[in-house]
Amino acid sequence: MRVTFLGTGAAWGVPVLTCRCSFCQEARANPSLARTRSSLLIRSNREVLLIDPGPDVRRQLLAAGEPQVDTVLVSHGHPDHIIGLDDLASYFHIKDGRVRPSPIPLHATPETFDYARQAFAHLFRSSRPRLQWHEMRPGFPLEALATRVIPFKTFHGATAPGSVGFLIEDQGKRVIYTADLWVALEGEGTAEIEGYVEPSPFGPEGSGGVDLLISELTFLSDPSERRKMLYGAHLSLPRLLKLVRAWQPAELALIHLNHAPGLTVRVIEDRVSRSLEEAGLRIPFVLPHDGEAWGGSSG
Ligand SMILES: [Zn+2]
Ligand SMILES: [Zn+2]
Repeated sequence: MRVTFLGTGAAWGVPVLTCRCSFCQEARANPSLARTRSSLLIRSNREVLLIDPGPDVRRQLLAAGEPQVDTVLVSHGHPDHIIGLDDLASYFHIKDGRVRPSPIPLHATPETFDYARQAFAHLFRSSRPRLQWHEMRPGFPLEALATRVIPFKTFHGATAPGSVGFLIEDQGKRVIYTADLWVALEGEGTAEIEGYVEPSPFGPEGSGGVDLLISELTFLSDPSERRKMLYGAHLSLPRLLKLVRAWQPAELALIHLNHAPGLTVRVIEDRVSRSLEEAGLRIPFVLPHDGEAWGGSSG
């Protein structure tokens, strides 16, 4: 399995338009640190999966060499993860100048599909569908795929019902992608939080080892109420550590990085490295740049 990080930024990308914070300025000064909206391309032994086509997907696919994509997966109905569906329809509908005979398979939960259909009714018109919805059922492997992909429920706030992360297995490798989520820490009451669910990627067969955890890290520290209003229910570093402790991945890749005053890539690296060390977790981590890849060259 080979994972390409098409994009690694949060909902507004980095730099954020007109923002002059240190993280945005660092990305302006060094374009390799600029980040488009988070999206993944997974090349398994048998097929190519595109996860979370956001507003930058067209440019991301051009940068990746316009790869063939067999199936599209969407984790939740937020614009930065789904707004690229319209671009995909044009991209995949034409192949070598010819119209593709069948619609592109789109895997999503019913809640996410509702959002997609409202936003892009024209893509699902029965007379000439560009996308064909396949229902995603959390806890069950996706159907009609050669690769084993199991969606698991996540909590990402009231505006993202039906949100999921993915466990992807191929050729003995296991990768977890959290997508966007929030998790409660030990002792934090969750009874009051409507729709809260503890993310649990593993079925009855247990964890069996995780080669790579790809997680969002929107915040280093838990955000102020104002930032929470702006950015919603996302992981901070202490909350990420809870998942790392529970899942014990061999490697960690952090994406969906967000700007904040005082932040630089170095600051994030230092804080993550110190926190892992203090928690006794000897796990190598990366903050991949856009376009970087992990794993073998299958597919
Ligand atoms: Zn997002
Ligand atoms: Zn989101």
